[in-house]
Amino acid sequence: MIYPIHIVGSPVLRREAEEIGADYPELEQLIEDMYETMDEASGVGLAAPQIGKSIRLIVIDTAVMAEEEPDEIEAFRKVVINPVIYEKSGDDVLMSEGCLSVPGIHEEVERPERIRIRYLDENFQEHDEEYEGYTARVLQHEYDHLEGKLFTDRLMPLRRNLLRNKLNGMAKGKFDANYRTRIARR
Ligand code: ZN
Repeated sequence: MIYPIHIVGSPVLRREAEEIGADYPELEQLIEDMYETMDEASGVGLAAPQIGKSIRLIVIDTAVMAEEEPDEIEAFRKVVINPVIYEKSGDDVLMSEGCLSVPGIHEEVERPERIRIRYLDENFQEHDEEYEGYTARVLQHEYDHLEGKLFTDRLMPLRRNLLRNKLNGMAKGKFDANYRTRIARR
């Protein structure tokens, strides 16, 4: 099943998401649906709040990007549950980001180069891993969704001000997207 993706302005995107246990109902199906939803929208990552579920669950698949830039990006496909990014290191680097919940906007965002992250996979096996480069970038972007943050929050104040009207319009339905979306009820 393909879920509509919540667009900026939807309150669920601003909530801190809850951890889940292995007994979460129909988790396997939900994960499958999230992959389907992400693929249909040509995304490389999707966090559960983006489909209206305030839980700490992320799916990632960077295969499309890895095909485009094989020297730079490695294919990475993973289910990430209850993650904690507990260490950030390296230089802060600028990289262009976009978001399925903020259609049509791409901006350079500054984030640390490297992270250490603890999380559970779909079998609730614990992992403790270090990532850098593009994978670290995607993980940090998706992790922000679980904290109720969007990448636009991390722009310089001037840039954010310039985008304010656009984001307000988007919240009311002024955007183009070639995937199913949902805006907040007014
Ligand atoms: Zn996003």
